[in-house]
Amino acid sequence: MATLSHEQLRQTRWHSLDAREALSRTGTSDEGLTEDQARQRLETFGPNRLRAIQQRGPLMRFLMQFHNILIYILLAAAVVTALLQHWIDAGVILAVVIINALIGFIQEGKAERALEAIRGMLSTDATVIRQGNRETVPAEQIVPGDLVVLRSGDKVPADLRLLDTRELRVDEAMLTGESVPVDKTVEAVAETTDLGDRVCMAFSGTLVTTGQGTGITIGTGDQTEIGEINRMVSQTETLTTPLIRQITGFGRLLTIIIVIFAGLTFAVGYFVQGAALTEMFMAAVALAVAAIPEGLPAIMSIVLAIGVRRMAGRNAIIRRLPAVDTLGALTVICSDKTGTLTRNEMTVTRLVTAGQACEVTGVGYAPDGEIRRDEKPVDLTGQSPTRELILGGLLCNDSDLRLRDDQWQVDGDPMESALITLALKAGFEADRQRKQWRTIDTIPFESKNRFMATLHEVPDRKERVVFVKGAPEKILEMCENHRQEHGDEPLDKDAWRSRAEDMASQGQRLLAVATRTAPADQDRLEFQSVQQGLTFLGLLGLIDPPREEAIRAVQACHDAGIRVVMITGDHAATARAIGLQLRIGDGEHALTGSELDGMDDEAFTRAARDIDVFARVSPEHKLRLVQAIQAQSHVVAMTGDGVNDAPALKRADVGIAMGIKGTEVSKEAAEMVLTDDNFASIVHAVEEGRTVYDNLRKAILFLLPTNGGEGLTIFLAIVLGRTLPLTPVQVLWVNMITAVTLGLALAFEPPESNVMKRPPRSTQARLLDAYALWRISFVSAILCAVTFGTFIWMRNQGVSLELARTVAVNALVVGEAFYLLSARFILAPVLTPKALLGSRPVLIAIGLVIVFQMIFTYVPVMQRLFGTEAIGPLHWLVLTISASSALLLVELEKWIARRRGIGAAQNDE
Ligand code: ADP
Ligand code: MG
Repeated sequence: MATLSHEQLRQTRWHSLDAREALSRTGTSDEGLTEDQARQRLETFGPNRLRAIQQRGPLMRFLMQFHNILIYILLAAAVVTALLQHWIDAGVILAVVIINALIGFIQEGKAERALEAIRGMLSTDATVIRQGNRETVPAEQIVPGDLVVLRSGDKVPADLRLLDTRELRVDEAMLTGESVPVDKTVEAVAETTDLGDRVCMAFSGTLVTTGQGTGITIGTGDQTEIGEINRMVSQTETLTTPLIRQITGFGRLLTIIIVIFAGLTFAVGYFVQGAALTEMFMAAVALAVAAIPEGLPAIMSIVLAIGVRRMAGRNAIIRRLPAVDTLGALTVICSDKTGTLTRNEMTVTRLVTAGQACEVTGVGYAPDGEIRRDEKPVDLTGQSPTRELILGGLLCNDSDLRLRDDQWQVDGDPMESALITLALKAGFEADRQRKQWRTIDTIPFESKNRFMATLHEVPDRKERVVFVKGAPEKILEMCENHRQEHGDEPLDKDAWRSRAEDMASQGQRLLAVATRTAPADQDRLEFQSVQQGLTFLGLLGLIDPPREEAIRAVQACHDAGIRVVMITGDHAATARAIGLQLRIGDGEHALTGSELDGMDDEAFTRAARDIDVFARVSPEHKLRLVQAIQAQSHVVAMTGDGVNDAPALKRADVGIAMGIKGTEVSKEAAEMVLTDDNFASIVHAVEEGRTVYDNLRKAILFLLPTNGGEGLTIFLAIVLGRTLPLTPVQVLWVNMITAVTLGLALAFEPPESNVMKRPPRSTQARLLDAYALWRISFVSAILCAVTFGTFIWMRNQGVSLELARTVAVNALVVGEAFYLLSARFILAPVLTPKALLGSRPVLIAIGLVIVFQMIFTYVPVMQRLFGTEAIGPLHWLVLTISASSALLLVELEKWIARRRGIGAAQNDE
């Protein structure tokens, strides 16, 4: 066996080598690598993973924290205060700037790592052949020389020299920019051929759009085309969504206005009123620092990161952050039926052949049960159409059933595994039969064809046999006869159709099976050869019950004003019946794909508006439906799992892929991936999405009044020509230490109890609407009154400036804490013990801030740094009473707002 080296891998022109030659050069046999070889090579070549491109080093990221207009102002202020020889102030300003940057750096790093970890949960698997067996392994463990099996929907896990292809077409847009999928073959090409024309190669990261193939791995990790070009799209996404950009933009605008305003104040004070330079400068700095909402961006990203983490905890992985906004505004969810709304736990319960109808007992995959007719077991030992029907189901089958830890587990398509269970119940030795009737060729199932066909050897005979299984209408079209006990008879299609309709209307999923003999020398199955002249064997009825939690989730959607549309490839009658159980549609109205095809645009639009159940649809219909529903100004989510679903997923406002049964292609196209394929998880994500929106709004409504209150206080003092009630460093303390600590608590607010009881928010709704602006002004005024009021009260008693300021700062901070209690709910009252004490983060934040204020007020170093003085119990009493107005007045205001009906448009507990 040749040992493979890095050099060899890199220098060989694999695309110009014959396939056999390529195989031998990698030292791999037809059976693939052995486990030992694979392990050894993993050590030599390393994991099949692209080295992450370090975008910004930690130092750069730290320095970036200073790239912010407020920091520039503060640095300038520090320099000027130093020039004025106010050493302590300069020092404090600098310290605050550095501490702030450090906190920002740590928070940002944490949030990014959290998101990365969540993204890491979506690892890719690949199918390899090792020691002659197919195995599913994490794509990271593929090594040079591994035989890799590709199927439509896969992401190519490494660079491959193809050995065998069947209709294989690969989308290489990410590598070559070419958007039309490339046909792949095994023929070698000239050495000088361009990347895009190397048709015998499949490159890592590209997507298989149709067909199947196998290839030998000739490059992994960074030693792939994609790794070398190093075009890996950066994995670090900035923590932002359109809503957050809207707020950040607003914050920036506000900052600029404030800076200009502070500059003007300085000019007027100094040049016109003739105030002292130092004093006026400090006043202007205080004003700027006070009014700029510096804590806002950090809190926004934290709210977002927490929302994304909560969603991941509830089985919904966000791939693109803007989806978080959109989830909260969804008005329509279009969902697949099978596996998403239903359990995808299939059991065959009925068998119908031309001569007899049987029932099957037992539920689940365990082969406990029997085939019965008229309550008596059916004898299946001799040849019979029923036996042949079961055999067809067993052989025309890509899946497996495994007994693991006493549990029968599906490996592949649940419906096909159910056919194996059926065969076992019927007394077949499934494994032996499948070996004897060796499969020579397959046309795999694709939802757009709705059938699957296989070609088999027949034990002890020369001729071969074809089995086809699929949707009854489809199979009936291919058949001429049906099988009877005594031989074949002409087929009565209408009779079979009505039998099918009958079974489907009981909610059963249907499969028909047909067969044909084939010449002994046939070893390829062509599409054409199975389209006619088959013999119909019979119908299989399967049950796939709705998920309990899906029934509840559909109800939750209806309560939340969200329409649920079921889209399925299944029979219309099955879809109607299952729909009724889930309360989707009325059990009567359903449209099929072919009915949709016959419609003009207007009728289609009406159908998209009025009908909730669509059956026998193909992926193209999904796309048209999404477009039609969107055209009615809806925000639409669409689920999908197949390759052909990708366009509809991309088009939908939130494309949702299935983590378990979904193809890599659909996951790439989706904004969100469900790790449990469960409809209920979509609804949980919607709830979290709405909560993120609420919490963003709450955080803004909490933070901005702090700045408003401080800004007003200082501005008022300047206008009235009074000493500032707050110094610049005190303002810094309040904004960067207390306000952020308190505001952070709101990021953890759980969903409000009515979050799924209100209608979706309008896409036109702005986070900062008229009511929000009013609330911000109102609370700003209260906080200003509290701060200024206590300051003047103290001054009127003739106490020192330091003491008066300490009382004023404490009044402001306690006022914020009171307001935080109220800010937990935007409009709902909080004056109940449950609401007041209901949030641990809020209580912790308030506790922390009390400790901070004690240190601020009583520790000698802090007194020197911030110019504070110890205050007495009476001061605390008075300032607490006046600060409590921030809670009481806001509650009063909420009450009036609720009475005036603003509550309908806002959240309400
Ligand atoms: P859905 O997943 O929405 O129920 P599919 O497109 O998977 O719809 O299936 C549509 C129909 O195709 C099914 O009702 C069934 O009759 C048939 N079918 C599904 N899976 C297979 C398969 N593996 N082999 C043959 N026929 C299948
Ligand atoms: Mg399906």
